[in-house]
Amino acid sequence: MLVEVAVAAAVRGRFTYRVPPHLAPAISLGQRVVVPFGKSRRATGYVVGFPEAPPAGVELRDVVEVLDPFPPFTPELVELLRWAEDYYLVPPGELLRAALPPGLNARGGEAGPTRRGVEYAAPAEGADRAAADPKALARAPAQRAVLGYLLARGRIPVEELRAAFPKGRAALTALERRGLVRLETETPVAQGGVLPAAATAPALTPAQAAAVAAIDGAAGGFQAFLLHGVTGSGKTEVYLQAIARARAAGKGALVLVPEIALTPQLSGRFRARFGDDVALMHSGLSGAERHAEWLRLRRGDARICVGVRSAIFAPVQDLAIIVVDEEHDPSFKQEDGPAYHARDLAVVRAKREGAVLVLGSATPSLESLENARRGRYRKLDLPGRVDDRPLPPVELVDLSRLRRGGDIGLPGLLAPELREAIGRTLEASQQAILFLNRRGYETLVTCEVCGEEARCTECAVSLTHHARRGILLCHYCGRTERVDARCPACGGVRSGVGVGTEQVEEAVRALFPRARVARLDRDAVTSADETAAVLARFARRELDVLIGTQMVTKGHDFPGVTLVGVVLADTALALPDFRAAERTFQLLAQVAGRAGRGAEAGRVVVQTFNPRTPAIALAARHDYAAFAEGELERRRALGYPPFTRMMAARIEGSEAGARRAAEALAAAARPALQGEVAMLGPAPAAIERLRGRYRWHLLFRAEAPKALFRVHAALARVALRPPGGATIRFDMDPYSMM
Ligand code: ADP
Ligand code: ZN
Repeated sequence: MLVEVAVAAAVRGRFTYRVPPHLAPAISLGQRVVVPFGKSRRATGYVVGFPEAPPAGVELRDVVEVLDPFPPFTPELVELLRWAEDYYLVPPGELLRAALPPGLNARGGEAGPTRRGVEYAAPAEGADRAAADPKALARAPAQRAVLGYLLARGRIPVEELRAAFPKGRAALTALERRGLVRLETETPVAQGGVLPAAATAPALTPAQAAAVAAIDGAAGGFQAFLLHGVTGSGKTEVYLQAIARARAAGKGALVLVPEIALTPQLSGRFRARFGDDVALMHSGLSGAERHAEWLRLRRGDARICVGVRSAIFAPVQDLAIIVVDEEHDPSFKQEDGPAYHARDLAVVRAKREGAVLVLGSATPSLESLENARRGRYRKLDLPGRVDDRPLPPVELVDLSRLRRGGDIGLPGLLAPELREAIGRTLEASQQAILFLNRRGYETLVTCEVCGEEARCTECAVSLTHHARRGILLCHYCGRTERVDARCPACGGVRSGVGVGTEQVEEAVRALFPRARVARLDRDAVTSADETAAVLARFARRELDVLIGTQMVTKGHDFPGVTLVGVVLADTALALPDFRAAERTFQLLAQVAGRAGRGAEAGRVVVQTFNPRTPAIALAARHDYAAFAEGELERRRALGYPPFTRMMAARIEGSEAGARRAAEALAAAARPALQGEVAMLGPAPAAIERLRGRYRWHLLFRAEAPKALFRVHAALARVALRPPGGATIRFDMDPYSMM
C-alpha cells in the first residue's frame, strides 16, 4: 500500500511512502503520520492521497507511525486544502499544519476539558458598591477589570468574558468566592439533535425577513449572497436566524469574524442563542481549549463554529451555511507563513460542500461588489438601521486651509472645530472617541540643520518618537534608541513632526484638564485583558474621551458616544497601495458608525488635508454606492483587481542577493508573459529593508489566474534554488503592497 504525504515543511509537492502492513488498517485519508524526510527520521506529514504506483526512480521509504486514532481532516477538508495549496502556491504541509489547532500540533496533544451547558456570569447584588469602593479591589486589578466589564454588560455567557479577558479565569473564580459575581450553568436540552434557542430572537424587520427568506430559500445547494447593511442594520440577527433554520434541518454552520478579542459580544450572542452547539476558535483560547473545541466539531458534538480566519478549515459537519462577517476586513488575508484569503476560501468551500454563503458588510469589498454586479453573488440590502436612527452627520475640517491661515503647530493637530466639539460633548456629559491611525508622539524626527532623519538601522523606515518612554522606536522590528535632542550626524537641534496618538492624548488632557481620558493603542495596552478593561471603563462611562488607533473603530456599541473625531483621515491615503482609497473609505465609515448609537444624536468631525478626495468626501456623506462606482471605474481604467488578478513574488536576502534573485525571477518570467501578463518590477519593496534583510518584489497582473499560474510554473526552477541565498515567497491575490 502506498500513500501520498504532504510533509509539514516549507516544501512544495507531495511525497510517496510505503505503508507497512501493521499500519495499513489505521491509515485513511487525512490521517496524520510520522515519516522519514530528507535527513530527518521523524517528520510530521498528512495523508492526502493513495497513488497506485510509485513515481519513477524514487527509493520508497516507510511510514513510521500513525499519530491519531482518527484522521483530523475530513475528505472535504483534504480537498479544500489541496485546492488552496494549488491556488495559493504554498507548501501543502505548512498549510495543513496551520489548519489544525495548535494543541493538536504538539505531539500527543490530548483533548482539553469538555463542556456541559452554557455558563453565564453576572454581577451579584451589591457588586456595584464594591466596585465603587476604591479600597475594595485595590490590589486585584484583574478582578476589578472583570467586575467592571460585568457591571457594564450584565449577565453574559462566560465565553464572552473569556474572549475579552483570555487570562481572566482566576479573577472570575476569585470574584465568585468574594460573592461579587454569580456563575450559573444552563444545560441545554437536546431535542432530536437540535438545540432550542436559549435567547429569544426578535421579530425581524421587513428587510431582515426578506434576507433570511432568500438565504433559507437557497438552502440545499451553493449560492453566494452579499449582505450589504449599514452599521446597526441588523446583519448579525440575519446570520443568527439563517443559521437557526439550518440547524433546524440538522445541518452545520461556520461563521468567520475578523477579531474576536475586539468584539467579544458577538461570540456571546451566538452562545446565548445556540448554547453549547457553538464551538469558538480564536487566539484568546489556550492550545488545549482550541483543541477541545476543534474535537467537539470533529465529533459532531458542536455543529456551529464561530472563529477567526483559520477557522475556515474547521471540521464542521454537514456544512449548510458559511457566514463571513465584515467580509471586507483585511485580517481575513493571511500573509505570514502560508498566504491565503479566508473569505475567498469560504467561496470555494461553500461551492464544494453545497452550502450557502453569506458575505456581510457595511462597506463591501470591491471584489465582492463586482461579483454581485456580475450576478455571481446575490445582493441583499438592509438599507437602514433597525431603530430608524439616522447615521450621524459628518463634518469635514480642511486642515490645509488652517495651515495656510498660519495656524500651524496645532497641539495634537486638533483644529478649533474639533476642540469645540469635544468641549460641547464634555459639557453635555456625553462621550467622545478620537481616532488616529498612528501611534507614538511624533512620527518623524529630523535635524533642523542637516535634515538627517532618525531612521532604523535595520529597517528602511523612520523611527517614531515615544515621549512617555523617552525612546525612538521602530514600528517594524521593535528596535529602540534613546532620544537625543541633538543630531548624531552634525550636532544640530532635532525636532519632530507628524502627530501620533500619544500627542493627541497630551493635547486633550491639556485642553480639558477635568476630562477623564484614556488611550487605546498597542503602547497603552499590551494585552487583551487591558484592552477589555479600558473598553469596559468606557462602556461604564467612567471615561469621557477615548483616543486610539484602529482598535477604537471596531468593537463595542457605546450608547454614550455622541462625538467621533477623526484626527487625520489621510494616513492610509498616501500608502503605495491600489486599495488605499478603499481602506480609507472603510475605516471612516466604520468609525463614523460608532457615533449616535444611543438615544442622543451623534456627530462626526473628520480632519483632513484632502477634503475633496472621493474616499473622504463620500464617506462623509455615507455614500458607499457613489464611492464604489467611482473606485471601480478607476480600477478598471488602471487594470487593477477586481478587473484583473495579481500575483506577487516577494524576495528577501542580502543587498546583492535579493537583487540578483529578483533579476533572475524577472528573466525567467519574461518568456512566459506572452502579452497576457503584465510584469511590474523587479523593484525594491516600499519598505526596502526589514530586520536587516533587503526586500524586492515583482508583481504580475493578468485577466485570469491561469496566465499567472503559467508564469509561476516558469519561475519554479529559480524559486527552488534562488540565487544569492535569497528566499522567495509567492502571494496570490496579494493585499500588502509594502
Ligand atoms: P449589525 O450586525 O448590522 O451591526 P446587529 O444585528 O448587531 O446589526 O443589530 C443592531 C442592534 O439592533 C442590536 O442591538 C440588535 O440586537 C438589534 N436588533 C437587530 N435586529 C432587530 C430586530 N429585528 N428587532 C429589534 N432589535 C433588533
Ligand atoms: Zn526596525
